Amino acid sequence: MDYLKLCNIYHALESTTKGLEKTEILAEFLGDIRNDPKLIYLLQGNIFADYDHRELGISHQLVIKTIGKVGGIPEADVVDAFKELGDLGKVAESLLGNKKKQTALFSNKLSIEKVMTNLQRLPSLEGKGTVEIKIGLIVELLHSATPMEAKYIVRTVLSDLKIGVGSGILRDAIVMHCFKPKDIQDKKMYAVSVQEAYDKSTDFAEVFTKACSNELEKIKLKPGKPVKVMLFPKAKNIEDAFRIVGKPAAFEYKYDGFRVMINKEENGQIKIFTRRLEEITTQFPDIVEYIESHVKGKSFILDAEAVGFDAKTKKYTDFQAISQRIRRKHDINEIMEKLPIELAVFDIIYHDGNNLIEMPFGKRRKLIEKIVREEEFKIVLAKQIITDDTKVVENFYGNALGENQEGLMGKNLSAPYKPGARVGYAVKLKPEDKDLDLVITGAEWGTGKRAGWLTSFNVACREDGELLQVGKVSTGLKEKPEEGLSFGKMTKILKKLAVEEHGRKIVVKPEIIVAVQYQNVQKSPSYSSGYALRFPRIVRMREDRDVGDIATIGEIKEEVGDKK
Ligand code: AMP
Repeated sequence: MDYLKLCNIYHALESTTKGLEKTEILAEFLGDIRNDPKLIYLLQGNIFADYDHRELGISHQLVIKTIGKVGGIPEADVVDAFKELGDLGKVAESLLGNKKKQTALFSNKLSIEKVMTNLQRLPSLEGKGTVEIKIGLIVELLHSATPMEAKYIVRTVLSDLKIGVGSGILRDAIVMHCFKPKDIQDKKMYAVSVQEAYDKSTDFAEVFTKACSNELEKIKLKPGKPVKVMLFPKAKNIEDAFRIVGKPAAFEYKYDGFRVMINKEENGQIKIFTRRLEEITTQFPDIVEYIESHVKGKSFILDAEAVGFDAKTKKYTDFQAISQRIRRKHDINEIMEKLPIELAVFDIIYHDGNNLIEMPFGKRRKLIEKIVREEEFKIVLAKQIITDDTKVVENFYGNALGENQEGLMGKNLSAPYKPGARVGYAVKLKPEDKDLDLVITGAEWGTGKRAGWLTSFNVACREDGELLQVGKVSTGLKEKPEEGLSFGKMTKILKKLAVEEHGRKIVVKPEIIVAVQYQNVQKSPSYSSGYALRFPRIVRMREDRDVGDIATIGEIKEEVGDKK
């Protein structure tokens, strides 16, 4: 198929902000790619399935170079155009368009398959001499591209398509195309099945194919392929927890670490994924060892929290202390000794060929008790009590906080596991500290003694696929790196994610999640959510989260007593 056809779709999607219109455009286009369902990734602005985290490894700098090369334009001119237009896609469209008019450059027609093939080669090119090959692959595409195609190629390689298609809209388009629902009720029902299938497979190509052949139930869990984790709402207090999860209920320590899904494949290979579906097996040889030596079973998927502790005092540390282990790719043994972790296993969803998501939680817990051999400071089961007595829970809550953990989880003993969903099968109980996970969408350069750092950060919550601003934060970060998360570190991270520049302000890809503490929430016309956090302060970075995990507008509204 001609790539131009897809670009026309991109253009149509970009031209409307209405969810329903986008869904209709997508639903119709899905008919054109039924025979090659993997092309659906391009509609997400990706090249691979969501569970596949291979990176294209293309920086803005490299794209600037490439545009210069294709158009025979000095790089400085490309940079100037970038400053003016704030989007390298538009820069490619404009500069290469002008050039092409003059020289009648190109013109083989570009096919979608060719774009996919060239882009899919990029992640495997690593190391010396590969930069030129990477540039070559993009140059080849840009040479045969029309100006509009050039715009979308550039945006795709920078993973920033700007067409406003989130996974909710794509899911609804699959429903519309494959099931042709008669009414809203019908639509909702199919949306639930498509969403459930997606949460198990995290691959829209597979979901699309199976939905069209009415075989969604054939999508199975498979150890080795990450699934979305189950999420938990907050309970206001112990009574509220009982109200949501029933009586008696299980209460467990809520450990302050980071979530890991541990997969053992049929062939014995162990793979560890974060809740963002990133594979972190290499970074955690200690977890692999504990699983091999302490857990029985040919294949399984365990849900657990990796918790840090001080090697000397054996006291538990907070998440921030061990967060660096997630990204560390070198000197792993050294950091493993410095920042040891204990694994607290709290759930299981697959064991020896059996999918256990429908099994009641109480039974799943019994199974992990049977297959995990506990050893303190290596692998344990989440500390648990089963009770219907508020007093007993209060006591247990105190113990958890006393041991430096975050609070408790209250769990419904007869509930199934729901990948990807924030249902009330379990709830979290934390002391009221009013913090929300939010995403940084932009920042502003500081002045005076803070010049050279980004010092003010726009933060947003979410509603369906959209991000809504809830304020600006400029406190919480430190000037000196030894004191904690610093302006310098945040500047370095955000600079790499900048997609637009407007004077002192930049817009960044929404990838960095921060926990923001605040005093209260008030209505405010200044931000797109209609609300503003008062006295916000960044307390930590949440490397283990992505934009799907941030607070929803419903949670913000609740704070001011507005209806969700
Ligand atoms: P929050 O991060 O505040 O949304 O709280 C939910 C998180 O608590 C989960 O995603 C887990 O990473 C973590 N957690 C810690 N201990 C447990 C436990 N016993 N059961 C379930 N989740 C837990």
